[in-house]
Amino acid sequence: LATAGSELSALRSDLEKAKTEGATDALTALPNRRSFDEMLANAIAEAEAAGQPLSLAFGDVDHFKKFNDTWGHKLGDEVLRYVAGTLTKHYDSLGHPARFGGEEFVVLLPQRSMAEAEKMAQRFCERLSSRALKTRNDGKEVGKITMSLGVATLQPGEAASAFIERADEAMYAAKKAGRNRVVCASA
Ligand code: GH3
Ligand code: MG
Ligand code: MG
Repeated sequence: LATAGSELSALRSDLEKAKTEGATDALTALPNRRSFDEMLANAIAEAEAAGQPLSLAFGDVDHFKKFNDTWGHKLGDEVLRYVAGTLTKHYDSLGHPARFGGEEFVVLLPQRSMAEAEKMAQRFCERLSSRALKTRNDGKEVGKITMSLGVATLQPGEAASAFIERADEAMYAAKKAGRNRVVCASA
């Protein structure tokens, strides 16, 4: 019986590990897209039940193809890890960053109005673009990393997909307007 018990607990811990790995992006250690979709569905249900706002920031690294072409994919990966770490530090307990895919990140902001979400995203842009990066081994200047962000606030009865799409469209508007900036979604 003792052996069966320890085998069972080993299976349980394997299962927990598999669950965590399945929800985590291997490169950045942020929640992955699947996990984000689940968090978003829960957050929408909670916001609606509580009558609280819910905002979403959708960010995309600027000119990242050029970065990879210039510095290589490996350093590009480092940049994505750096962006993920900066998002996590910046939003702290106020927002939940996830890797949406490629060089796109999302931050879920429960209980935050559009104005609050906009301000947080603007400060993030400033924080990210204020630092010039250097390679660790030879101290080569790789310059500044910037990101364009779109911010949306959930509308009554809005589906998750439409909510994401509005934030994504606002992000594209930020690209068109010159990048390294925040644009709020229209209703
Ligand atoms: P824009 O400012 O308009 O967003 O330009 P961009 O170059 O960032 O956009 P584009 O969509 O043309 O290129 C995205 C690039 O992101 C191309 C792709 O190789 C790179 N990328 C996506 N995922 C990863 C990754 O995991 N690692 C690395 N190193 N690069 C990635
Ligand atoms: Mg992109
Ligand atoms: Mg990009």
